[in-house]
Amino acid sequence: MTNYSHSKLGTFQQCKYKYKLQYIDKIKVDIPDTVETFLGGLVHEALDKLYKDLQFQKVNTKEELIEFFEKLWEEKWTDNILIVKKQYSVNNYKDMGKKFIGDYYDHYKPFDQTKTIGLETQDFLDLGDGYGYHIRIDRLGCDKEGNYYVCDYKTNNRLKAQGELDEDKQLAMYSLWVKKHHPDCNDVKLVWYFLAFDKEMVSERSDEQLEELKNETIALIKEIEACEDFPVEVTGLCGWCTFQSLCPAWKHKYEAEAKVFSDDDGVKLVDEFAKFKDVKKEAEDKMGILREDLIGFAKQKGIEFVFGTDKKCSVKEFDKVVYPENKEELIELLKEKGVYEEFCMLCYPRLNSKILKKEVDKEIIELTSKEKSFRLSLSKRGY
Ligand code: SF4
Repeated sequence: MTNYSHSKLGTFQQCKYKYKLQYIDKIKVDIPDTVETFLGGLVHEALDKLYKDLQFQKVNTKEELIEFFEKLWEEKWTDNILIVKKQYSVNNYKDMGKKFIGDYYDHYKPFDQTKTIGLETQDFLDLGDGYGYHIRIDRLGCDKEGNYYVCDYKTNNRLKAQGELDEDKQLAMYSLWVKKHHPDCNDVKLVWYFLAFDKEMVSERSDEQLEELKNETIALIKEIEACEDFPVEVTGLCGWCTFQSLCPAWKHKYEAEAKVFSDDDGVKLVDEFAKFKDVKKEAEDKMGILREDLIGFAKQKGIEFVFGTDKKCSVKEFDKVVYPENKEELIELLKEKGVYEEFCMLCYPRLNSKILKKEVDKEIIELTSKEKSFRLSLSKRGY
């Protein structure tokens, strides 16, 4: 059976190049972890201990649990763990973990909301066609009414909207496994604990939705297995990608950082390009204001020409046609009157895209040719 996990499928959807490095080439990188992953892992370990000990009738105090977390932190922390947000220190992250555990403890003590029947549950869900889906449930609980609870602890600083959770695939896939392995279950509730917000959110799925999700997952796996092209996909998530130093999209950053960054020719070119872009934007804003002021000046004086040192500016009033917002009626009328062709314009961007995708008639494609060109765009540098 070929097995896939939520993160493996997610990596493919995020960046195919990263997927290739991680899962096909199986490249090991020097940076083992990001601080967010490290923090999340230890908070999970502490909450796992809390419920594991409870199964043996041992109730940890809040202080004991936080102490356990701190001890793990000291033992496992290494200096090559990546801190992307440089404005925060290691201790900031450690304090976050302590707060997450403390808040959770105060909220749920004595932890009898549901009966724990599984902790860090690991298994594979057979999807058929020789594919398996990795199951790893933080905590599986149940109540007397036969409801099962797939519980997931979240340590990131983003509270998801209910709509997002209702679309979430990971816990929904886990619920397929729960239904299969616990046929007595009446209902499966998907529960997220957003520890940074001390907030619990719940979602559910119908059998039809789960069947559809299973089919979508199999289709995605088949797409992965048929994939031959693994391009880079630069997004805001690149800052957390441990393969960044091996990625062609970030090659120049690493080359420039290996010497005096500001001396690099590429760095100088981008800095200057960005500066003039800003100047252009400022100039455009200023031109807008000057335009209004000049119109006001000419109107007030009742003149058509305003004189400067070397140039004069003509301010001419004219009748501008204002069309209705909804253009359909106008288009229909132009067609009806037989003049539409005379006034309609070719949309070159749309035609370009159709030609490149070969979505227009062959004869049209053959009438055109292709040449290499460049599009430059500036964005935030990223981490
Ligand atoms: S740095 Fe970004 S583009 Fe490069 S492999 Fe990682 S996720 Fe993909």
